[in-house]
Amino acid sequence: MSIFIRNANVITMDAISGTTPLTRSIRIENGTIAAIGPDLEPQPADRVIDGRDRLVAPGFVNAHTHSWEMLYKGRYDNLPLELWMALSYPILGNSRVEPDLIALRTKLFAIESLKAGVTTVVDDVLETPGQDREQLNAVFDSYEQLGIRANISGHVISKPFIDTLPFVSEYLPDDIIKEVRGMPVPTTDEYLAFSREAFRTHHGRGNGRLRYMVAPSGPQRVGTDLLVGATEMAREFHAECHVHVLETKTQLVTGDEMYGQSLVAYMNGIGALSPNTTLAHGIWLTEADMEMIADAGTSISHNPISNLKLGSGIAAWRMLQDAGINLGLGTDGCSSSDSPRMLDVIKMAALLHKVTDPDYTSWPRVDEVLAAATIGGARSAVLDDSIGSLEVGKQADLVIYNLETMAFTPRQKLDHQLVYSENGSSIETVIVNGQVVVDGGQVTTADEVAVRAELSERLDEIIAWQDKLDDKNRVLTDAFSKMYHRAMSTHGAVNRFSGDEHAWLA
Ligand SMILES: [Zn+2]
Repeated sequence: MSIFIRNANVITMDAISGTTPLTRSIRIENGTIAAIGPDLEPQPADRVIDGRDRLVAPGFVNAHTHSWEMLYKGRYDNLPLELWMALSYPILGNSRVEPDLIALRTKLFAIESLKAGVTTVVDDVLETPGQDREQLNAVFDSYEQLGIRANISGHVISKPFIDTLPFVSEYLPDDIIKEVRGMPVPTTDEYLAFSREAFRTHHGRGNGRLRYMVAPSGPQRVGTDLLVGATEMAREFHAECHVHVLETKTQLVTGDEMYGQSLVAYMNGIGALSPNTTLAHGIWLTEADMEMIADAGTSISHNPISNLKLGSGIAAWRMLQDAGINLGLGTDGCSSSDSPRMLDVIKMAALLHKVTDPDYTSWPRVDEVLAAATIGGARSAVLDDSIGSLEVGKQADLVIYNLETMAFTPRQKLDHQLVYSENGSSIETVIVNGQVVVDGGQVTTADEVAVRAELSERLDEIIAWQDKLDDKNRVLTDAFSKMYHRAMSTHGAVNRFSGDEHAWLA
């Protein structure tokens, strides 16, 4: 199918015009942008879309999320990461999630993402107690149907969870320690074999839209050989290696306690920083850490809303930019941010860092934030050759906004309004790989009403299952809380809270 968008306001995000809107027509053929320019005419078979009063921009790349959490939207508040994780990623008592429920949650997540103008998701899929082939396949099948572009993991934790945290085993009763340590975790060989097979089976499905990625949960949550093996495998398959790094002060303390150095220095020492690697969060980094990350060409995915909700701290936006690190933006999962709307994250990224420094020349600019949400995210996903900007030869992943809406009234600077005024309600059409996946604001690749009806039917059962797991895992709360207080009262190399942390320091 070929599409012709006639005379729209276009933000290309290419190296020359960046975020400046230009009047352009775009011709899409075989999933690719075949032509873009001021004086184009459609060909006879083209579906012609009138670009008058429309803005066209690249689709957003959600550079860090977890579709698992779709079923946890709106469940928790006022829990720091480690205490939240004990509930949202249940440690005790969980049984295998059936593939049909995985398919349901993945479809819901894809529907909401597409309608919000997100054309690519970096979906770090964590199953507890562990992920098997059928479960992974359910995610790929769902995304194949929905038409979204995705990097899909392969998330692995290969240590008993309590051994990935400092101090906590000192505070837990012996029977709980025994229970957690008795739970099976994959070996390095098992995970790497699983990933190699996943690359062979899934990488490139959906006309190249869907890619497998390796995702060691965090450097402290897997063995050295697994982290190195996954890094090498990502390079072998030109894929992404996705790792949570220094999201919280607890993780800063973890590096000191476990390795006698920062987690980034540890990764650098074993060769686990690479241009294919994206570090999710990267909040509690020192300047030395940032230098190592920049030198390795490693990306960071910045998730300001999730970081605020979990009280993790504020990433040093300007320092990261000045260090020359490529930044993407992510929503993180719907349990820690309650929405996959990238436009919320874009606005938050543009605003949050303005209160961290009185030097207004250092504040995030509209063009930087939009770059992180598109081409920067594409770079972090190892997809910048094919998406992230509207250029001839790239895959056609774009969003058409209706400008006859209140968000764009009055029409001033469209790039500024995209960041600060638009909330997704002007989104009319979304195209991924040349396929119209949202038309008139509605997803074309699934019956949204039917998918939501299926969820409604199962919701009581799902909530009962979650409540039961919450009850079971609350035995961990006291020990985790003690660990958290001890970590917060430790002097760290940096402070990434917005306020004075002295009240907490011992
Ligand atoms: Zn995450």
